[in-house]
Amino acid sequence: MFAPRLLDFQKTKYARFMNHRVPAHKRYQPTEYEHAANCATHALWIIPSILGSSNLYFLSDDDWETISAWIYGLGLCGLFVVSTVFHTISWKKRHLRMVERCLHMFDRMVIYFFIAASYAPWLNLRELGPWASHMRWLVWIMASVGTVYVFFFHERYKLVELLCYVIMGFFPALVILSMPNTEGIWELMTGGVFYCLGMVFFKSDGRIPFAHAIWHLFVAFGAGTHYYAIWRYLYLPSTLQTKVSK
Ligand SMILES: [Zn+2]
Repeated sequence: MFAPRLLDFQKTKYARFMNHRVPAHKRYQPTEYEHAANCATHALWIIPSILGSSNLYFLSDDDWETISAWIYGLGLCGLFVVSTVFHTISWKKRHLRMVERCLHMFDRMVIYFFIAASYAPWLNLRELGPWASHMRWLVWIMASVGTVYVFFFHERYKLVELLCYVIMGFFPALVILSMPNTEGIWELMTGGVFYCLGMVFFKSDGRIPFAHAIWHLFVAFGAGTHYYAIWRYLYLPSTLQTKVSK
């Protein structure tokens, strides 16, 4: 990646915050500082995501809005809870190898469902064309295929894994772009940019100190931006929407 050419952190005073890189088939071992940061950067968002999801639930006016609030809320809270539990176990209970491995797989599977859940309110609540409407169920098929892939090939082909997330993240966006109502598109794209920038850090363990925790923060910014768009354009009553934009 670009980091070593710009700055080799291993030669700076910040090197003590991270370990050396590992070969592609091995897992990076974070330092104690990094473990703590990995836990904190996702634990911090558990309560806000529960409150935010409840807010959407209470703003719901019909059954579809209620169902979408549940799906989205479970995806959002699930991501931060599973990630926090996994990082805590891999920090404090790393001798429980099997538990840690299962949780790591679970952490990676949840990302697929989180992506599907993030699209669900848009796909369920906005008007879509006859072809585009198939994406409503297709996202869940994609999430299930991703989950099966993780189950069989977890950590085997890291680049393929990353590619799967990128496809899952961008493919449904094509449908969103074709919606007759385009309100919220800019926020959706901004959230997508946060996730993409975060991926640079996701692949930089051992090159940049706290790389994984920085990735977590980008995920939180992306999720926060998408939450704002869902709250404002899909749940907020239209009279209040105009007040917000003033
Ligand atoms: Zn993580």
